[in-house]
Amino acid sequence: MVRVRFAPSPTGFLHIGGARTALFNYLYARHNNGVFILRIEDTDRTRSTEEYIEAIIEGMKWLGLEWDEGPFRQTDRFDIYRSYADMLVKEGKAYYCYCSPEELEARRKEAIAQGKSPKYDGRCRNIEGRGTRDERQEKSVAVRFKMPQEGQTVVDDLIKGKIVFENNQLDDLIIMRSDGTPTYNFTVVVDDVDIKITHVIRGDDHLNNTPKQIHIYKALGYDIPLFAHLPMILGSDKTRLSKRHGATSVMAYKDMGYLPDALVNYLVRLGWSYGDQEIFSREELIKYFSFENVGKAAAIFNPEKLLWLNSQYIINAPAEKLAELVIPFLVKENIISEGQDLNKEWLSKAIKTLKERSKTLIELANSLRYYIAEEIEYDEKAKAKFLNEKSRDLLIELNDRLTSVTDFSTQELEKIFKEIIEKHNIKLGSLAQPVRVAMTGGTESPGIFEVLEIVGKEKVLKRLEKAIKTIANTF
Ligand code: GLU
Repeated sequence: MVRVRFAPSPTGFLHIGGARTALFNYLYARHNNGVFILRIEDTDRTRSTEEYIEAIIEGMKWLGLEWDEGPFRQTDRFDIYRSYADMLVKEGKAYYCYCSPEELEARRKEAIAQGKSPKYDGRCRNIEGRGTRDERQEKSVAVRFKMPQEGQTVVDDLIKGKIVFENNQLDDLIIMRSDGTPTYNFTVVVDDVDIKITHVIRGDDHLNNTPKQIHIYKALGYDIPLFAHLPMILGSDKTRLSKRHGATSVMAYKDMGYLPDALVNYLVRLGWSYGDQEIFSREELIKYFSFENVGKAAAIFNPEKLLWLNSQYIINAPAEKLAELVIPFLVKENIISEGQDLNKEWLSKAIKTLKERSKTLIELANSLRYYIAEEIEYDEKAKAKFLNEKSRDLLIELNDRLTSVTDFSTQELEKIFKEIIEKHNIKLGSLAQPVRVAMTGGTESPGIFEVLEIVGKEKVLKRLEKAIKTIANTF
């Protein structure tokens, strides 16, 4: 049974890189009918906060990356780490280290001065009779892991292939600090052992930790899990992705009007491919996902492509769903007030005319403005060009005709427009453009009959009258 985990350190919001790691774990678990576990690595108490834990969970939920077990928190497990450390000491696989930070620093400097490796010199490793439990209780001391110093460690990575590390480069790393807190490489392995992880899928910034962790798994008598180290995500200038390249927090994309599935689709393509297919349903992702199709090279974050994908997801989303999603943006953009009731059926109909033109939910909200607003503000150029003496009589005539219409449908409206333009022997645009400015304030909108139908008779007449008045006041 495949068991994988996403193990974020809550020292920041869920960011693009973390979300992609979470996603690959999730997809691998679902593809294999396995278990996806969320583990919060909050041992660094100075940098971890409750707010970040909540933000990470919120981000995962928004992306629809449901986990099956957890969230486990490492700070709840300090007794467990302690007992595993004690066990390793008892078995002679770890030892107490009495060297003070000052001594260590002095010896490290000396080693560097002599051109030697600055790693721990092993002073406490073989001291007979030291490191008994009693002695440790008197004085708080660190626990170090006995790393093998000969031979090689091979990491057989599912993405990167075989990577060989020389064991004499590995330090006897501290697994418990003298203040009693466990260290990163130790907690990861203890947890992976404890929750029976089969595959470790994470960023390749952890590749150098892997040989050390392999020896700890072995010492704990656990089968080494399989590893898949994901290449980094870089910005367009090939430096590590950061705020300079645009928003990096997942929830910032929610605020910018992105759909979670569009972001998921974008994230999966940061390193993974399936032929030249670009758009995938969640089911397809789960069905097709494998490490064979994960590239070895770093992925480049491309905000324009993400925006394009979002526009595709908006086009393909049911209008009813977009109607739900756009409401908070209508409030934020001051188009409706909080709690204002909008007829969902009407809103969906309006959205259908705008989906193809909106790349984000914010753009969609702003295009809905003229359908919803009580007052239309004219674009100055559009007003000057189309609301003038030439169009006044046409607008008056249309206003008269529409007042008596009972069936305010696109078909009926089209018929009336046709009659007016034929009577005056003019092109449709000569009537439609002034009407468009009167209805939307500008010169671009969906088809004029659809716009009129959605705005509705009452508002249409009001807007025509305002346009006629505006012309009268100007000329
Ligand atoms: N907590 C580590 C991080 O956020 C992940 C450790 C792991 O996946 O092994 O980078």
